[in-house]
Amino acid sequence: MADRHVAHLLIGGGLASANCARWLREEGADGEILLVGRETDPPYNRPPLTKGYLQGKELREDAYFRPDGWWREQRVELKTRTSVMKLDTSAKEATLSTKEVVSFDTALVATGANVRRLPAEGSELDGIHYMRAFGNSDAIRADAAGRRVVLIGGSYIGCEVAASLTAIGAQATIVMMEEVTLERGFGKRAGGFFQKTLEDHGVRVVAGDRLARFEAGESGRVGAVVTERGERIEADAVVIGAGVAPDVMLARSAGLALDEELGGIRCDSRLRTSAEAVYAAGDVAAYDSVVHGRRIRVEHWDVAFNQGKTAALNMLGRDVAHEVVPYFFSDLADWASLEYVGPAASWDREVVRGSLEDGSFSVWYLDGGRVAGALSVGRSDDLEEARRLIAARVALDDGEQERLGDAASDLAAIGAR
Ligand SMILES: Cc1cc2nc3c(=O)[nH]c(=O)nc-3n(C[C@H](O)[C@H](O)[C@H](O)COP(=O)(O)OP(=O)(O)OC[C@H]3O[C@@H](n4cnc5c(N)ncnc54)[C@H](O)[C@@H]3O)c2cc1C
Repeated sequence: MADRHVAHLLIGGGLASANCARWLREEGADGEILLVGRETDPPYNRPPLTKGYLQGKELREDAYFRPDGWWREQRVELKTRTSVMKLDTSAKEATLSTKEVVSFDTALVATGANVRRLPAEGSELDGIHYMRAFGNSDAIRADAAGRRVVLIGGSYIGCEVAASLTAIGAQATIVMMEEVTLERGFGKRAGGFFQKTLEDHGVRVVAGDRLARFEAGESGRVGAVVTERGERIEADAVVIGAGVAPDVMLARSAGLALDEELGGIRCDSRLRTSAEAVYAAGDVAAYDSVVHGRRIRVEHWDVAFNQGKTAALNMLGRDVAHEVVPYFFSDLADWASLEYVGPAASWDREVVRGSLEDGSFSVWYLDGGRVAGALSVGRSDDLEEARRLIAARVALDDGEQERLGDAASDLAAIGAR
């Protein structure tokens, strides 16, 4: 027997839940909305944790989802420092860590993701960090500002943190398995541009190598990183960016269908899970994308934000597919900003529009002649056309593919059928 009833229960105190709450109200929900999150802060944006907030240029409140107290204005009950421990989808009840049992009409599971931990000798030493929450960003700045820091991983977290810490006086070294930074998402050519940008600003990159172990320094804290090739890099702090795994613990115990390959909660195009009236959104949602014609799961801010809205509309019975083309952004301090739409699962051709040398270009990732993704540095307008072409899924002929790379040609005319 439940202690109380709410119309909408939002599980997870991150971006997807927060935007869902907002849109539930803005679209006319009049019942109780309860948002339950494990963290101590109200819902916030994580991107500043590796950028302005890490550099000390932005305040904590600047990263909040909306101005402090937004939930009160929108009559959303926010419970921070509270976990949902159990979800009974047939009774439509959830048990909170406070022992309270809450029944609901609809629920959203937006439990996000957890960092992947790297097991290595010495990984228990102080000074070794991961990056997910405010507390991590605070601790990294305290340990690494103005000192020697090693980043393990050459993807977004490693590159962004290396840039931000360098901008506040650290000496940063990236150790990564890849040959070129960010190559998994953007290929070697664009990845090379970002790596050169980092190196030009003093970041050292150790490529094609792996972490072997950590060594303690004199203080008993981490003192060095040793790689598999045997390089020993002295460090006052280490930040590991080895990816994340969606947090499906609650979903699994609730018996929700999971997508084992993509590693998230299986959803249809409406973000409905396998349980009636239970939806999922954000990092944890593996959804049938009508844009891509396949199931995908994306760990990007814009996707969590927009899926929060789609879930809200469907929780109100609107029956709308999630049709937003996934978008991603990243900054290397104030040295370079990138934007990307896609995501391309694979590609067989890259076409560059503009000039990498001038730092103003877009890269078009083609798969069998179709635009699968596009990256922009300083050419945001190109992404509007890329969105159109990704959603259209039309195979471009050779002439059209060539014209993508001709900055004088009209992108709007390409792929128009
Ligand atoms: C440091 C960092 C920088 C990033 N930078 C960028 C960027 O530049 N560009 C970009 O596009 N994306 C970026 N991202 C990704 C983006 O922030 C995420 O995709 C987004 O936060 C996902 O939102 P979410 O609501 O799905 O999950 P989260 O933000 O992870 O929120 C989920 C919340 O649910 C809580 N929770 C889990 N289980 C329970 C439970 N049982 N009960 C209660 N609460 C629970 C978690 O503690 C967490 O607070 C970044 C991510 C990180 C970590």
